[in-house]
Amino acid sequence: MKATIGLIGLAVMGENLVLNLESKGFSVAVYNRSIDKVDSFIAGRANGKQIIGTHSLRQLVEALQTPRKVMMMVKAGQAVDDTIETLLPLLDKGDIIIDGGNSNYEDSQRRMAYVENQGLWYIGTGVSGGEEGALKGPSIMPGGSVEAWEQVKPILQSISAHVDGIPCCDWIGSGGAGHFVKMVHNGIEYGDMQLIGEVYDLMRRLLKLSNDEMQAVFSEWNKGELDSYLIEITRDILGYREEDGSALLDKILDTAGQKGTGKWTGISALHAGVPLTLIVESVFARSVSSQKEERVAASKVFDFNPSAPVADRKDFIEALRSALYAAKIISYAQGFSLIKTAGEENKWNLNLGGIALLWRGGCIIRSAFLDKISQAFSKDPSLKNLILDPYFSRILTETQQQLREVVAAAALNGVPTPSLGAALSWFDSYRTENLPANLLQAQRDYFGAHTYERVDSPRGQFFHTNWTGRG
Ligand code: NAP
Repeated sequence: MKATIGLIGLAVMGENLVLNLESKGFSVAVYNRSIDKVDSFIAGRANGKQIIGTHSLRQLVEALQTPRKVMMMVKAGQAVDDTIETLLPLLDKGDIIIDGGNSNYEDSQRRMAYVENQGLWYIGTGVSGGEEGALKGPSIMPGGSVEAWEQVKPILQSISAHVDGIPCCDWIGSGGAGHFVKMVHNGIEYGDMQLIGEVYDLMRRLLKLSNDEMQAVFSEWNKGELDSYLIEITRDILGYREEDGSALLDKILDTAGQKGTGKWTGISALHAGVPLTLIVESVFARSVSSQKEERVAASKVFDFNPSAPVADRKDFIEALRSALYAAKIISYAQGFSLIKTAGEENKWNLNLGGIALLWRGGCIIRSAFLDKISQAFSKDPSLKNLILDPYFSRILTETQQQLREVVAAAALNGVPTPSLGAALSWFDSYRTENLPANLLQAQRDYFGAHTYERVDSPRGQFFHTNWTGRG
């Protein structure tokens, strides 16, 4: 009997996806570069299941029903190109290669064109949710050769998470659209995590809340509009105790790692000219955190006495909740603005409301408020920015004062809030009719004859002034 799908790469994600596929009734042939992993998987977790172990890519290809569907879950980068190169001569026209790793979307665009050129189809899909998501149902964001979608749709949708009976997997668009959306999803994850970190820092430093007290606050917040996986795990992390009863969190070194998708999101935003300030600050916040030795030295140079103790604990906790919600809305508004711009530039014909639905289950940023985002874009697909939707503009109008109070208190007390601060600065820029860019234009024209437009002339007419009067 031949298998429905082949999977290459039996690391954390691959193994769990295989077990997920098999549990939904699909037979799977598997291969891994180090073949001892194939044997140990078949003898262990795959034992007794409809999973066929193979020791070469040729054997894997021979074990598959046609047209063949081969999914790669290997390390992103050169390993994907190498695997495609080895696979191509073994496959036939009409077969489908799927990359489920965290590939750069530009690589996926290039690979799709290359594979299609050989008469095969290519799907680059984001798979989110880590180990548990892969096993129990991830959020899946597929893009690439649309001709292949109908063939892989029943498989990918049945292994994805489901919310309200709707699969968290749907077609994103051609080329690298799937991996682009997955990349922005990861950037949003950076933003959400940093915002929660800043709020935690303010609670422990300004309010001197204990871990137990903070756990109670996050537990309460998780019952309202902030209801989300990241708030939930923060609550649990705050409550976690080692065997001696001490809090593990307090013993974890404050240097954050990163794998690159946040950085890619920031680079894409810079290329597209879309302000993505909150996510970019979140990436840089991790960079600052990794400069531990320098920070320790600087902390001895720049002593600072907080000047504005917070008067009312209860009020400030409520302000933190509102500020966190306001900043989260701003972060998603920026992220969707980037997706919208990239979609238009690449002619991906994206369904922004549908994308928000894909993140409701199976991924790290799953949260209750994604429904509201989906409704906003479904109601008005041409919505210029999420914060202009009536629901979100009302919330920002109501919460902006608290965001200001929190950022101000943080500044006066010397607590860093790069992402909360970025949210407020962007919000104030976006809602400002007259920015000081008139002066920038004058400076540019002064030193570089870059010209400027005038408020008393039609747009598109450019002027230059000889500012010094010299010839
Ligand atoms: P990984 O550590 O990223 O990659 C390990 C796998 O890649 C192993 O099967 C390894 O084979 C294979 N590999 C590495 N270099 C290779 C090469 N040159 N040729 C062929 N195979 C090669 O594994 P992972 O964490 O399971 O992630 C798989 C993909 O999913 C990655 O793109 C990752 O970024 C993405 N992803 C991961 C997570 C997560 O939570 N881990 C979540 C979402 C997406 P050997 O055993 O022979 O070394």
